[in-house]
Amino acid sequence: MEPQRSPLLEVRGKGNVELKRPLVKAPSRLPLPGTRFKRGPDQMEDALEPEKKRTRGLDTVTKMATSHPRAPALTARPQTQGQTTAPKVPKKTGPRCSTAIATVLKDQKPGPAVPAQKPAGRSAAPPLLGGKKPTKRPAWDLKGQLCDLNAQLKCFRERTQTLNQENQQLQDQLQEAQQQARALGTECRTLEGELARVQAEAEQSQQELGTLRAHVLELEEQLGTQEGLVQELHKEQLGLQEERRGLAARLEEQERRLRASEAALSGSQAEVASLRQEAAAQAAALVEQGERLHGLEMARRRLHNQLQELKGNIRVFCRVRPVLAGEPTPSPGFLLFPSGPGGPSDPPTRLSVSRSDDRRGTLSGAPAPTTRHDFSFDRVFPPGSGQDQVFEEVAMLVQSALDGYPVCIFAYGQTGSGKTFTMEGGPGGDPQVEGLIPRALRHLFSVAQELGGQGWTYSFVASYVEIYNETVRDLLATGTRKGQGGECEIRRAGPGSEELTVTNARYVPVSCEKEVEALLHVARQNRAVARTSQNERSSRSHSVFQLQISGEHAGRGLQCGAPLSLVDLAGSERLDPGLALGPGERERLRETQAINSSLSTLGLVIMALSNKESHVPYRNSKLTYLLQNSLGGSAKMLMFVNISPLEENVSESLNSLRFASKVNQCVIGTAQANRK
Ligand code: ADP
Ligand code: MG
Repeated sequence: MEPQRSPLLEVRGKGNVELKRPLVKAPSRLPLPGTRFKRGPDQMEDALEPEKKRTRGLDTVTKMATSHPRAPALTARPQTQGQTTAPKVPKKTGPRCSTAIATVLKDQKPGPAVPAQKPAGRSAAPPLLGGKKPTKRPAWDLKGQLCDLNAQLKCFRERTQTLNQENQQLQDQLQEAQQQARALGTECRTLEGELARVQAEAEQSQQELGTLRAHVLELEEQLGTQEGLVQELHKEQLGLQEERRGLAARLEEQERRLRASEAALSGSQAEVASLRQEAAAQAAALVEQGERLHGLEMARRRLHNQLQELKGNIRVFCRVRPVLAGEPTPSPGFLLFPSGPGGPSDPPTRLSVSRSDDRRGTLSGAPAPTTRHDFSFDRVFPPGSGQDQVFEEVAMLVQSALDGYPVCIFAYGQTGSGKTFTMEGGPGGDPQVEGLIPRALRHLFSVAQELGGQGWTYSFVASYVEIYNETVRDLLATGTRKGQGGECEIRRAGPGSEELTVTNARYVPVSCEKEVEALLHVARQNRAVARTSQNERSSRSHSVFQLQISGEHAGRGLQCGAPLSLVDLAGSERLDPGLALGPGERERLRETQAINSSLSTLGLVIMALSNKESHVPYRNSKLTYLLQNSLGGSAKMLMFVNISPLEENVSESLNSLRFASKVNQCVIGTAQANRK
């Protein structure tokens, strides 16, 4: 049977007592300075674990070393190697000691290289000395055995010393390692703190990063928008640059023109200076001319007036209307228009009416003799005379109103003899048949405009009333008063004033033909309405169109003003005395009496003026009262006596002609212009 070998003996067999695993290498398992930060505390613990285990092993060894005191007995008797006598070993010592060593060896030398330790308990095997297989000492060789044991003990002691040194080293290392571990722990905690802080910072940074990313996205978006804007602006800039170039070119062109204009201007300025001189000279000449012109104008007015006076301040024109369609043709010779002293080329001034005396013819049985009535007037217009011819004769008279002489034109005659036709014109608005009123006004406006060139300013105010049965009604009434013509009164314009005014009547400023036409239209409408209520009232009333003319020469402080009155008198026919007087006829009689009264008052007024009587009966009729400023004194009067061409109207015609002849014989003073 092979003797059980102690592990120590096995060590010795190899010639060295050494640890299979170098203990000094233990620190190398500690974390390296460069890698320690990468390891956590657990890893550190793991790294330290083998050392602890080793330390525990050493503790065992220490324990074993402390058990040495038991051995001195053995050392006391040292044995040389090769002693055959086996030392006497206490029975229990061997196994105990070998168990301790085995434990050390087991801890220090793990691994398959370590042979399995045989359980102690048996007698310790003799140590292998000098590589020789120890020979088993006989039981009796106690000395040899003791020697062996001593050798073993020595060996153990050396071994123990070595181990103690190693242990000391290891403890130093351990302490160092622990210090390092503590330092590392501290460092680790610091680092953990730092790590936590860094992590917190990192989180914060992450958040900030998130915010910044969002901000960056937002900024990128803004950048996109801005880029778009920039592109647009760029385009706009290009457009503006283009425009600027265009404008610069235009500016250049304008500057060029301006230079040319300036050159032209300086030329023109020289020209203007010379022209100014010329103008000043001309202005002086003009003033002189103006003076001369004014002198001429005043001379013209004077001469014009003398001419009018020579023609007579009261003139009578006779106008015979044509025979109308459907009317009987008068017998030849009924009306004759003998030539003037100058022959047929002279305008006619005479009229002969032949009237057969029926009563005388009946009595004698012979054909009724005719009586010829000759009349002479300032002018006679046979039936073919046109409105323009008539006006031609009137125009100069009308112009006297502008010179400041009151002018009054009457149309006298029986109903249907052509008074309205003469004053207002024929129906239909035909310019050819326009009457005196529109023609006279047109003429006045035209002459006033011409006189404007000499510094005269004229204004015209029109009124149009009718006098029926001694009541005055406004023919220009509009609105609710239209047609009714609300009653008017003739009053003085103010206390002590010569000027007359009709209360409730419209006085309309006129400055052109159209305005006059509008007024005549209103007057016709008013008459038409009146006609429905009172049959043919227009024939039974006097229509008075009045135009107040005011002229002013501001430069010379001259003023002139006069009324122009154009009067369409009521029918002058008399009522047939043989007519039975029914209710209608009575009314007609009253009308006729009013008309006859006012017409005879007119005749009387003219006579009184002609005879220069102290009292002129203006107040005897509304007509003469209204016209008092247009009659007498400086006034110029023209009476148209309108005659029917019909034989049946011969009696009325003769009456009219006789009345007109009386008027024609009148001479009213010497006209004085109303100058202020
Ligand atoms: P009065 O006003 O005297 O009653 P009118 O002026 O109404 O008379 O004339 C009666 C008629 O005779 C009207 O139809 C009118 O047109 C016509 N008449 C009058 N005079 C002329 C004339 N000179 N030429 C043509 N027709 C005229
Ligand atoms: Mg009439």
